[in-house]
Amino acid sequence: MKKLATLFFVVYALSSCSIVPLTGRSQLAIFTTQDLMPLVKDEYKETLSSGKVLTSTKEGKQIVKVGNRMAEAVETYLTEQGYDSLVNELDWEFNLLEDEEVNAWCMPGGKVAFYTGILPYTKDETGIAVIMGHELAHAVANHAGERMSQEILFELGVGTIDLAMGQDPTLTQEILLLSVGIASDLKLLSFSRKHELEADRMGLIFMAMAGYDPREAPLFWGRMAEDEEDDGLTFLSTHPGHTKRMERLNSLLPEAIEIYEQRKGSN
Ligand SMILES: [Zn+2]
Repeated sequence: MKKLATLFFVVYALSSCSIVPLTGRSQLAIFTTQDLMPLVKDEYKETLSSGKVLTSTKEGKQIVKVGNRMAEAVETYLTEQGYDSLVNELDWEFNLLEDEEVNAWCMPGGKVAFYTGILPYTKDETGIAVIMGHELAHAVANHAGERMSQEILFELGVGTIDLAMGQDPTLTQEILLLSVGIASDLKLLSFSRKHELEADRMGLIFMAMAGYDPREAPLFWGRMAEDEEDDGLTFLSTHPGHTKRMERLNSLLPEAIEIYEQRKGSN
């Protein structure tokens, strides 16, 4: 089985590389957002129906408001960069769920959930924009598709989502959830440093384009880091390299501040 998986891996690695918008990194992505959408729609619906949705509350409406502003910035960015086809794949949805876990995620294609547990850290709209930008960036860069490609090849040795569903639907669904950072009792997949750096960088640009001050980003991550050791936050356990994050954010800030100031000046 392992041998077969390796063979598939080699074949698909040769034929399925795509380029991450903004950073220009090439990635192994057997599963495009389009491939994953039917599964994503089912799993998102399932998540909403099995939880308590608070989207019509004041806090929930704030998540939707920030989400829409950030989504507009993402689409403008992708269009400017010539990624119109990626814009067509997006089908945004923003929801707030009652859950004390400190987490937020975005499934491929733009299906977003914030948990109430993260609100004490985001504090206001700009704080929400920090984590929203980071999560939308993971989705736009198809990080989940990249991780699923690696996991499904390793676990099942197949190279299409239909084959994976046919072979082991439960495991395939589980891998999707793990790939977008949704906690599971079984295990957690960690986002790699490479993915984190990419999501931080793209997230900063998106929030600046949406008119949110990117200088809030290191402050938000600082609040998260303070509680890291005490509580072992789920979000942080899937997001390694937390102490290094500050340095990197500070080095990325000037570019984002320039975009933010320009936008402010043009309004
Ligand atoms: Zn992340």
